[in-house]
Amino acid sequence: MKVINLYKGNKPVFSLEVFPPRNGESLGAVLNTIDSLWSFQPAFVSVTGGALGSMRGGTIAIAAGIKRKYGIEGIPHFTCVNKSKQDIENLLMEMKFNEIENIFALRGDPPMGQKEFIPHPEGHRYASELVEQIKLLNEGVYILSSIEKDYEASPTNFGIAVAGYPNGHPECPDKKKDLEHLKIKVDNGADYIVTQLFFDIDVFLEFVENAKKIGIDIPIVPGVMPMNKYGQIKFVSKQMGIEIPEKLKDKLEAHKDDKDAIKKILEEHTLLMCKKLVEQGSPGIQFFTMDKPEGTEKVLQELCKEKKRY
Ligand code: FAD
Repeated sequence: MKVINLYKGNKPVFSLEVFPPRNGESLGAVLNTIDSLWSFQPAFVSVTGGALGSMRGGTIAIAAGIKRKYGIEGIPHFTCVNKSKQDIENLLMEMKFNEIENIFALRGDPPMGQKEFIPHPEGHRYASELVEQIKLLNEGVYILSSIEKDYEASPTNFGIAVAGYPNGHPECPDKKKDLEHLKIKVDNGADYIVTQLFFDIDVFLEFVENAKKIGIDIPIVPGVMPMNKYGQIKFVSKQMGIEIPEKLKDKLEAHKDDKDAIKKILEEHTLLMCKKLVEQGSPGIQFFTMDKPEGTEKVLQELCKEKKRY
C-alpha cells in the first residue's frame, strides 16, 4: 500500500521511525519498540539508514521484515551516499522484489569523518535527483532498458517521501531558499514530507504556512523525538542546528543538574507540542523512537486518553 493513501483519512496518522542496530547487534531493540507500541496501531514504520553519517546496514531487509511480520508498510530510508545511479537502480530492484512499496528518498549525511557531502561521480548531488530517478522507474524508464531495447521493462510503483526542515537545513542558511529546494523534490514526484524534529511548534506551523504559499500541497508530517536528557537535547540542537525556544532553554538551564526535573520538563514539552499538532489538524506525527519506546508510549497514552483518536 502506498503510504500517501493513509493520509487521506480524517484521523491523524501516527507512525514510527526506528534505527537499524549497529552492525553485529541483534534486531531486539527494533522489534521491542514496535511490539511495545503495537497497541497504538502504528500506521507504518520508517527505517533509517543510521543518521548523521553513521554506518549501519540492514535497512532494506528490516523494512521488508517489518512488512512481513506486522503486515504494515516498512519504509527504508534510502540515501545517495557513495552510490552511482546504477547502484541506486539495482538497490531499488532489491526493494521491489522485497515487496517494498514506499521509499524515503534522501541525499544523506556525509559519511563519518567527512565534513561535506561529496556526490558519487556518477550519482546524485541532491535528493531531488533521486526522487526524479525513482519517478522515472515508476514510468518504466530504467538505465538498462534505455540501452537494450529488446525487452519491455515494467514500471515500478513506489511511493516517495522526502525530508523537510522547519529550522532550515544546516547547509542552507537561507530558509526561503531551503524551502524552494524542498519544492523541487515535491515537483519531481514526492508524495509526502516528514520533517526534521523541532522544539518550537510555531516554527513548524510557520514552515507549513510558507510551504503552502509556494505551492507545496502534499502532507507535511511533523517529526517528533521524545527526549528526556539535558545532554541529548543540547547535542541534537547543536548537531542539527535546531533552535530551542528561550522559555524552554531557561527552564532546562535552571534544572540542568536535576535529572528528574529535566525528564519532566522535556516530557511535558513534547506532550504539549503533540497535543497542539493534533489540534491544529496535522496529518499525523512521525515519532523518532531511537529504538526506545518509553517516551513515545507516554505521549500516545496521553493523546489517546484525551482524543480517543488512534
Ligand atoms: P537535499 O534535499 O538534497 O538537501 C541537502 C542540501 O542541499 C540542503 O541544504 C538544501 O537546501 C540544498 N539543496 C537542495 N537542492 C538544491 C539545489 N537544487 N541547489 C542548491 N542547493 C540545494 N540521513 C541519513 O543519512 N540516513 C537517514 O536515514 C536519514 N533519515 C532522515 C529522516 C528525516 C525525517 C530527516 C528530516 C532527515 C534524515 N536524514 C537521514 C538526514 C539527511 O540525510 C540530511 O539532513 C542530509 O544532510 C540532507 O538530506 P536531504 O535529503 O534533505 O537533502
